[in-house]
Amino acid sequence: MTAVQPKPSTPAVGETFDSLSPATDEVVGTYPIHSAADVEAAVERARVAAEWWDSLGFDGRAERLRKWKGVVTRRLAQLCQVVRDETGKPIADAQLEAVLAIEHIAWAGKNARKVLGKKKRPAGLLMSNQSATVEYQPLGVVGVIGPWNYPVFTPLGSIAYALAAGNAVVFKPSECTPGVGKWLVDAFNEIVPEAPVLQLITGFGETGAALTRSGVNKIAFTGSTATGKKIMAAAADTLTPVIIEAGGKDPVLVDVDADLDAAADATVWGAFSNSGQTCIGVERVYVHEKVHDEFVAKVVEKSKGVRAGSDAGAQYGPMTMPSQLNVVRRHIEDALARGGKALVGGADAVGDRYVQPTVLVDVPEDSEAVQEETFGPTVTIAKVRDMDEAVEKANNTKYGLGSTVFSKARGMELAGKLRTGMTSINAPLSFAGIASLPFGGVGDSGFGRIHGADGLREFARSKAIARQKFTAPIALTTFARKEKTDVLVAKLITILHGKR
Ligand code: NDP
Repeated sequence: MTAVQPKPSTPAVGETFDSLSPATDEVVGTYPIHSAADVEAAVERARVAAEWWDSLGFDGRAERLRKWKGVVTRRLAQLCQVVRDETGKPIADAQLEAVLAIEHIAWAGKNARKVLGKKKRPAGLLMSNQSATVEYQPLGVVGVIGPWNYPVFTPLGSIAYALAAGNAVVFKPSECTPGVGKWLVDAFNEIVPEAPVLQLITGFGETGAALTRSGVNKIAFTGSTATGKKIMAAAADTLTPVIIEAGGKDPVLVDVDADLDAAADATVWGAFSNSGQTCIGVERVYVHEKVHDEFVAKVVEKSKGVRAGSDAGAQYGPMTMPSQLNVVRRHIEDALARGGKALVGGADAVGDRYVQPTVLVDVPEDSEAVQEETFGPTVTIAKVRDMDEAVEKANNTKYGLGSTVFSKARGMELAGKLRTGMTSINAPLSFAGIASLPFGGVGDSGFGRIHGADGLREFARSKAIARQKFTAPIALTTFARKEKTDVLVAKLITILHGKR
């Protein structure tokens, strides 16, 4: 097995940027701004590394992923501190996302052979002289572009599965969380020192754009819908396939027989944790009219115990991107100007860094606060006649990422009617923690799936192989075919498929 020596890319002196703490503005790290040439060099190195990584086979790769998972787990506290430094989120929240990510590394490594290994397929009666096999080959080099809100869980949902499938990965984290990206890549390279199988490139949007144009075999993008569209357009030039994991406007449905305490708790946590900067965070709630007032009272009560801040007593931290404060303020002000009421928080909840919890009711369905991704700690609650109306309203946005249903009798039925990629019933966001379930959206929330077997297949190409075992008594694919063969085939197909 030949090892490929990593050749560090060297950006020109002075081309760096600082990573700042959103809580204090303190510089917590300085990183290179990689140019298009740097990116191309990284992809070239990755091509060679990919061949070596592929040659390790499923078991060799699973062993390395198992060791990487061990390192990440044993140094969890260190990783959580880097996440806190760059995002401002509480250590406990950083730990939760890291724990889920570790589960995904474990699942991907352990299950890659089962999902992607060679499989026999039935050849069918007409082709019974053939042996049919499908195998899933790695794509080569995968470019992963990640956001800042869950800088461990989100990119690893692509990276772990792409690596387990046998690809090399070039990873561009958000400019807000380069330190977390570096930490993850360094930990991997300790376990896989032979070749640059997982490389980090840092910089701004242009570095990500260069990765999209670099000729990688697939781009796995997680971020806003607007950037997803740009990436798709750029990738079209080279017919580079893309996975787009974009934004959401996730609804919660509360049925008449729901456990209202559990539903209120899930709403408050789902809407406010991580300062609402969660793609699958709760942004809207539709409640059956018979339990609406009781539910709202519970949400208001529970919200009073939640506070943004950077002290140990705060449940969530600052907004990571200062520019998002304007979006949150605009959505709240628009909702209030159009007849909505703030039962908790309101326009004053939006400060210089922190946004306090905001619960809005009576907000028109066509307002920004109901239709657009707010990505802040706000939630709208609306009363509905019945669950049919709840489903109709929940489905009436351009997004379709996650959703939650609280109902004792109709959970599965309502889940099936929601136009979203994922639904959890009677608990918040559970689907994200179950490694075997696919994760992804519909509509403006994007397409393609990470996690689970579907996530592994996203990073592989299926290769069909038909091997002739013996010469068929009826030869079909030859000019030497006789008329009586055609008659026989017509009879055979009628027997097989012609029944009324
Ligand atoms: P952005 O779309 O702003 O950025 C995402 C990534 O794309 C960043 O690394 C960014 O780099 C990079 N980028 C920016 N412009 C380009 C370009 N032209 N070409 C290639 N790459 C580019 O999203 P955010 O980081 O603000 O993340 C928040 C969004 O992510 C929300 O909408 C959220 O809902 C969504 N999200 C979706 C998830 C899902 O699984 N569906 C999970 C988590 C978040 P840089 O930061 O350096 O500008």
